[in-house]
Amino acid sequence: MDTSFIAIIFVIAIAVMIIPRLMPPRGPLCNRCGGNGDIDERWPDPSEEGGWHIAAGVCPKCNGKGRLRS
Ligand SMILES: [Zn+2]
Repeated sequence: MDTSFIAIIFVIAIAVMIIPRLMPPRGPLCNRCGGNGDIDERWPDPSEEGGWHIAAGVCPKCNGKGRLRS
């Protein structure tokens, strides 16, 4: 087996693993933040400290991208 052939296969394998991570997600809109990447949630929740569920900032579901990976 030619070693350059193995090197090419290796580079392709790495590229296939990395490229999808660089591309923005093209899946459906995030149903938690509605696609804007930020959340501002607050609703009564007895299990939370203070009796309220409060979460604001970057959406933890899509990491602020607004779209989910399909
Ligand atoms: Zn989101």
